[in-house]
Amino acid sequence: MSALVLVSPLAGWSTPLEEVPDPVFAGRMLGDGVAIDPLGSTLYAPCEGEVVLLPETRHAITLRTAQGLEVLMHLGIDTVGLGGEGFEALVALGQPVRTGDALIRFDLDLLARRARSVLTPILLVGGEGTLARRVQSCAVTVGDVLMEWTPGSAAADGAAARAGAGGTRGRTVRVALEHGIHARPAAQVVAAIKGLGAEVSLHVGGRQADARSAVALMTLGVRGGGQVEIRAAGPDAAAALDAVEAVLSAAEPATVSSMPSSASATAPASSPRVQLEPLRPGTVLRGVVASRGFAIGRAAVLRVREIALEEAGAGFEHEARELDRAQVLVRAALEQARIGAVEPAAEVIEAHLALLADPHLQSRALHCIGQGKSAGYAWRAAIRESVQALRALDDARMAERADDLTDLERQVLIALAGEQAPSVPALPSGAILIAQELLPSQLVGLDAERLAGICLAAGGATSHVSILAAAAGIPALVALGPTVIEIVEDTALILDAEAGELCVDPGERRVEAARARMTRNAERRARERQAAQRECRMADGTRIDVLANLGSMADAEAAMRNGAEGCGLLRTEFLFLERRQAPSEAEQRDEYQRIARALAGKPLTIRTLDIGGDKPIDYLPLPEEENPALGLRGVRTSLWRVDLLDEQLRAVLAVEPVEQCRILLPMITDVVELRAVRARIVEASRQVGRAAPIELGVMIETPASALIADVLAREADFFSIGTNDLTQYTLAMDRGHPQLAARLDALHPAVLRLIARTAEAAHGRGRRVAVCGGLASDPAAAPILIGLGVRELSCVPAAIPGVKALIGELTLEQCKRRAREALEQESADAVRALSPAPAAATGEPASAGA
Ligand code: PEP
Ligand code: MG
Repeated sequence: MSALVLVSPLAGWSTPLEEVPDPVFAGRMLGDGVAIDPLGSTLYAPCEGEVVLLPETRHAITLRTAQGLEVLMHLGIDTVGLGGEGFEALVALGQPVRTGDALIRFDLDLLARRARSVLTPILLVGGEGTLARRVQSCAVTVGDVLMEWTPGSAAADGAAARAGAGGTRGRTVRVALEHGIHARPAAQVVAAIKGLGAEVSLHVGGRQADARSAVALMTLGVRGGGQVEIRAAGPDAAAALDAVEAVLSAAEPATVSSMPSSASATAPASSPRVQLEPLRPGTVLRGVVASRGFAIGRAAVLRVREIALEEAGAGFEHEARELDRAQVLVRAALEQARIGAVEPAAEVIEAHLALLADPHLQSRALHCIGQGKSAGYAWRAAIRESVQALRALDDARMAERADDLTDLERQVLIALAGEQAPSVPALPSGAILIAQELLPSQLVGLDAERLAGICLAAGGATSHVSILAAAAGIPALVALGPTVIEIVEDTALILDAEAGELCVDPGERRVEAARARMTRNAERRARERQAAQRECRMADGTRIDVLANLGSMADAEAAMRNGAEGCGLLRTEFLFLERRQAPSEAEQRDEYQRIARALAGKPLTIRTLDIGGDKPIDYLPLPEEENPALGLRGVRTSLWRVDLLDEQLRAVLAVEPVEQCRILLPMITDVVELRAVRARIVEASRQVGRAAPIELGVMIETPASALIADVLAREADFFSIGTNDLTQYTLAMDRGHPQLAARLDALHPAVLRLIARTAEAAHGRGRRVAVCGGLASDPAAAPILIGLGVRELSCVPAAIPGVKALIGELTLEQCKRRAREALEQESADAVRALSPAPAAATGEPASAGA
């Protein structure tokens, strides 16, 4: 292949690219070359070629040369925004041109006034060769030699500069790394020569790779024990040889692979996966119980779906910038994950950060963008090209690296698309869903009939997806850690969401024992369920109301089957999760009415919309918030969008019979919020022609509301304690945080003291006090809550028979004693140690249904 000489296409001043006020050009993301500060108004062809790109806006043009090289000329910076004004194309797309032909006439004055800069980058994109010479920091006229490119080396001019004087040195080394040059050592090689003034390459079997590209190094396919020649040129050549040799001849420290799963692009802080081997039969993983129960099933792993991509791009500038933006996001997510990560995970993250910055991937992607493709399409093409090369090596370890690249592909594509999470798959029957994490909207999209259980690598026990699982009677474990994602599709599993264990590929004997346990549980549950139809009284006759938490009509039916004495919390936001727009007033009224009917006259506590935090809703986009859990949530959102609140209030007030419903307000922090809603209820009642008053209660789920419970009790008709949020805000631990999941325990004495204070304030004013958070369904908590003065528990429907059976065995005196002891303990664990969960109150097998 012949060399290529480019002449200056403009008269003006030739400038180094670094001076261009745009990181895309200055960082050589599109290609290498120079920039010209133009004096004339016509752009000429710097070489022979064909016009392969000429956007409608005429602000740039690309020629393809016989050497397969593309020459991109971009007139000014940010000039796409001129929409073609001031530019006139003198050639057409596909037209062959000769050196010196006029290409574009432009209005230099207009550019000077309207563009960010008139500097015009002249770039070489793609092609296997070296930018051997460039003329810069001097005046040029049209036709002066500007650059010279020679074929052969993949390295760019920066490399040539690094090589400089001193000749090339070489050294042959044996690769001691057990698994050859895979992702991590490749990244280590890149890191080892960073900052050294040397051009370094590795050579094996007639193939070579730039040592600054981890991808190129991996695609060499060098195995452990193999020989490789290191070549280095430039002032630091000797140091570079030593550095590379040190990496390649070191023994492999640990067996690690892989990068954070693609889902972690949407949850940056989650840990990377580090497991390589398929899990051994009988492996037991431990997690945090999010929904009690027991199930036998087969793994259905939530794979991330293929992201749809537009092939055509919207121009170089735009697409390159988009790619950069997405990579910055992914890099930030990885860097975030690196904080606090321990080995070997931390090292893996490092390796993948290096992959993200890999010059080979980068230049392939930008080359593809240069051919008119979108950023996503180009990124995918660049990754898949490398993936193919790795897979072609027919080496299992390298194929794993290919999976890593595919993960990285997804992370960037997700960031590009601004996506939040993968969609859900169709499930086989008896499926135990394995996923990194799950959104409430994804869970409701799954076929509950086929779902025997849920196991999440991340998540928290009181996150809303856990609540939904519990409501549906689906056993669930969260915070199982990244290993769970390694479970192979269709593996047999035993999920013990009582003990917090997941047994992988348990073997026939264990499955038999599990089946027998499920049968025993089912029989006990059937007995309890029958008894649960009676009203709940303690052994000494004290009346305790056991109600249900509902999020759907199906929950209402399950609640009635399980002996609920009404509904203590209807999470109205769950009724309308799968929608694109807010439900109308009439739709809401119909839904509330249906649920009221299903409860056959028993009390129905309707909570106003609790949107925000971990319950985003498509049709109510909230402003971008730094910390949504501390932002627009619950009643704050309702008072921000009073139009939605008013509609909801009218819908509730219209339900018949009028005395069946109560209204409950979430996230109250002061009495002013309560008053504001009460005033709107008065107005809404007038509008629907309702004369009867309605009970208005507040949730005690912020420390503030618990601390001023005495003030709130003057105006609220009842209290319902939301222990999920109360715990989150008291302990300052995110309820969805996987690492904190095990510590986020509502039996923490600090939370219990707030409950005690609330109950005392309620009794002082003769107000009812209920608990509707997850603690109400926890058998270990029932005696303590009753002892603290709570007389109403609102539980997940499936837990009601067990809770009622347990309460029937307790006396008030016992409970008061237990409560006093609990308040004095120093930790949640110590409180739990006071009252091991009685067998009677454990959940039922998933297969038995709720
Ligand atoms: C709570 O916070 O305990 C509660 C019941 O409300 P939610 O779980 O819906 O936030
Ligand atoms: Mg809450």
